[in-house]
Amino acid sequence: MRRTLIRSATVISMDDAIGDLRTGDVLVEGDRIVDVLPSIDLGSGEAEIFDGTGRIVVPGLINAHMHTWQTGLRGFAANWTLLEYFRRMHAGLATVFQPDDIYIATLVGALNQINHGATTLVDWCHNNPTPDHTDAAVRGLLESGIRAAFFHGSPKPEPKPGEPHFSEVPHPRREVERLLAGALADRDGLVTLGLAILGPHYSTLDVAMHDLRLARELNLIASMHQGGGPAKTPGGWEKLIEAGFVGPGVNIVHGNDLADELLDRMVDLGVSFSVTPENEMIQGHGFPITGRLLKRGVRPTIGIDLESVLAGDLLSAARVALSMQRALDNAESRKTSGTIPVTTTIPVREALRWVTTEGARMLGREHQIGSLTPGKLADLVIIDASHLNLVPVHDPVATVVMQTSLANIEAVMIGGSWKKRNGRLLVDGLESKKQRLAQSGERLVQDIKRQGRAA
Ligand SMILES: [Zn+2]
Repeated sequence: MRRTLIRSATVISMDDAIGDLRTGDVLVEGDRIVDVLPSIDLGSGEAEIFDGTGRIVVPGLINAHMHTWQTGLRGFAANWTLLEYFRRMHAGLATVFQPDDIYIATLVGALNQINHGATTLVDWCHNNPTPDHTDAAVRGLLESGIRAAFFHGSPKPEPKPGEPHFSEVPHPRREVERLLAGALADRDGLVTLGLAILGPHYSTLDVAMHDLRLARELNLIASMHQGGGPAKTPGGWEKLIEAGFVGPGVNIVHGNDLADELLDRMVDLGVSFSVTPENEMIQGHGFPITGRLLKRGVRPTIGIDLESVLAGDLLSAARVALSMQRALDNAESRKTSGTIPVTTTIPVREALRWVTTEGARMLGREHQIGSLTPGKLADLVIIDASHLNLVPVHDPVATVVMQTSLANIEAVMIGGSWKKRNGRLLVDGLESKKQRLAQSGERLVQDIKRQGRAA
């Protein structure tokens, strides 16, 4: 079996029993981590040795929410509010996507995630007008080599005459069953299935119930956006809770406007929460819910949301979530006590949990990913801490959370296979993929303009 020994690195395991090793070794066999110790004696047998001197090893990062299909429109929506985004993206540009556009956007977007140290991506794909579009997205994920949860969702065009509004359309069971019988049949495979449903904020109560029932019946995570304008079904959550539809496996994205009492009940029921801090602040979602979760004893997961608005850099997103919440806490303290808090309200290690162990828990895969623990899948990131922007390393967790950038991500391993080495993605034909993405993005904009609509 293939073995790799990462030797003499600083190890941030995110496993409470192992902790941090200022100098330690990580042994990988096949697709698994087999040992994390201050020093590992290999004994007999071959192994690839990775000299970890001056390096920091962390678990592969988990991006909890991204619409990867929009990669070809990078930056295009940077000046749009959420309302413009609904009109110009979902009712506009989304409608001219061909399967090839979805494929190349998903492939390049996923590769960019790996490049940034994300080894697991929740691809919240809600532009699936045909099975061909869906298959193209799944193909892009599989080809990228990233570990992914493909959250299947429905598009949101303006209804044509005689057609129902999207909020009245139940999640298509047949498509979900087709995926479970085909490309995403393996529940422990590299790409697994979840549902990106509308939820009561964006659908009728009947549709929300149908979709949550479907997810539960098929044992799939049901994730939904919450917030952004008035709810389609006011009071919907209370009714869904009463009917027993809300519990573990339900994932709320944003949720910034949830009332305290409702949030209390959701937390008690084991709902998970995904924060996309930069986009929430940019588009008008209100302030991220991070601190309100922490106050209730639970943690957020962190997502990028939209590369059509901002960068796909998950460590930056974690840093923004942390900074934003510290700012709110500091402001609150100054308001109530007239002074700054004596100690910080959120240590930096918290932010690293959000993008590692907490992401794993949200996906129900904490036994497989999220920490450097013997027996778990070998998903890990190696940071070159000898670089100009990182020396000297006093506190490795602070180095990772507060200072590490893409330029420092030296190597990335997923399931025991290197996906990036020496600062370069191990991918053939990257230039032609970039060109294809650029052509796709250009064609999408031209197509919508040809229809006489604002791009
Ligand atoms: Zn989103």
